[in-house]
Amino acid sequence: MMFFRRLIRENAIRKPGLKWRVMLMLGAIISSLCLITFIPPIAPPTAQAQQPFTGTPAAKPAYFDRLLSVIDQDGNRLIELFKDIHQNPELAFMETRTSGIVAEELRALGYEVKTGVGQTGVVGILRNGDGPTVMYRADMDALPVEEETGLPYASTKRVVQADGSEVPVMHACGHDAHTTWLLGLAKAMAELQSEWNGTLILVAQPAEEGVRGAKAMVEDGLYTRHGVPVPDYLFAMHSAPGPTGIVASAPGIQTAGSDQIDVVFKGVGGHGSSPHLAKDPILMSAHAITQYQSIVARGINPQEAAVITVGSVQAGNAANVIPEESLLKLSLRWFKPEVRETMVRGIRSVNESIARAYGMPDDQLPTLIEKSGTTPMVNDAAVIDRINPQLANLVEANRLITNFPGTTGSEDAHLLKGDHDTIQFGFIFVGVAEPALFAKAQTEGKMVPFSNHNPNFQVDLNAIPFGTKVAAMMTIGFLQN
Ligand SMILES: [Zn+2]
Ligand SMILES: [Zn+2]
Repeated sequence: MMFFRRLIRENAIRKPGLKWRVMLMLGAIISSLCLITFIPPIAPPTAQAQQPFTGTPAAKPAYFDRLLSVIDQDGNRLIELFKDIHQNPELAFMETRTSGIVAEELRALGYEVKTGVGQTGVVGILRNGDGPTVMYRADMDALPVEEETGLPYASTKRVVQADGSEVPVMHACGHDAHTTWLLGLAKAMAELQSEWNGTLILVAQPAEEGVRGAKAMVEDGLYTRHGVPVPDYLFAMHSAPGPTGIVASAPGIQTAGSDQIDVVFKGVGGHGSSPHLAKDPILMSAHAITQYQSIVARGINPQEAAVITVGSVQAGNAANVIPEESLLKLSLRWFKPEVRETMVRGIRSVNESIARAYGMPDDQLPTLIEKSGTTPMVNDAAVIDRINPQLANLVEANRLITNFPGTTGSEDAHLLKGDHDTIQFGFIFVGVAEPALFAKAQTEGKMVPFSNHNPNFQVDLNAIPFGTKVAAMMTIGFLQN
């Protein structure tokens, strides 16, 4: 950790032009902390691995200045919308208030609006003559995190989950900013209809955390029952723990495949004083947790990415009672399907071997339930090659990162393609840390308040209009005849 911090300080203070590298370093650190979430760029800090834009900016399109001024004029309204959404966070598939705001805004702007897509998802369609069809997606869900920012618009919300437990709720992953960017994009595109042709589809997606929402929308009939046109292009963005003004837009793998798996060890309950009369599922679980790491260390090519994290262990209520069951919640990360297969097979094998070693019969072996998952998210190079010269008009060249290796974070935006493999895909990361706060945290060697999922995570209010501009530049650039 100290090694990372030293590098961060050197990059940030002695080489201010290399701030973009700082974000990459932070991404590497944060990627080790998060479960299912976006993780920003991760890589060793080699010049080859992360490259800023070196091409020639595109000629400024005729709409350029007008687009930016429309968004600037909308800035204060967007910031108020952001604060409102931030103060009223909702967990996955519970985003009724947020989706209501989105639906109302889109309707007022003249979009054809579909609600209840994949439970709480909203789709707005704006048809503007012949031309390409572009879908832009934002995620709406928050996290069960207790906010500690102390901001005047901090969340104090709590919610009762389906299992009866009450948890605090916070937008700790920036999905409030993502939703606001979508609302800003909606207004800008409605006002600039004379500057583009085609069909714009805006998607406010539920439940990105846990990577279930995109799949839910497609399975609910996004392109069939709900009649949403299949787009030519699908775009999305995510907040990144770098200063406002930094944008990462790179071809190739962006995020890893992931799986959420529940493992239940069965045992025989009994008195803690007489373990020989019971079969202890907690001890079995303890062995399994350490053995899982051997699958990665000894079963997988060291040059491949593979992660098995046990993020939750739930068993027992009393010191002197051996419980009947133990539940483990696992998160897997991978880039290649064969690596995933090796991990899942290995986990099953470890579970069963340990249970047998402790005397469990064949009909009482551990169960393995694959709860949810996503595939690696890959940006089409043609999309990125087309958008980056446009973005170079908005973002300083040394702040536009156009190459970095994939991260072990996960996303599900690309699953909105369903089985339409012809849809071209682009996903961009946008820095949302207030620059002075970011610099201060660096000098103190802290990763907060800009690391996703942290109780102190906060979005720079200037990133609201800035992110909207990035979204709009990307979107309008592909809606040209
Ligand atoms: Zn997240
Ligand atoms: Zn997120």
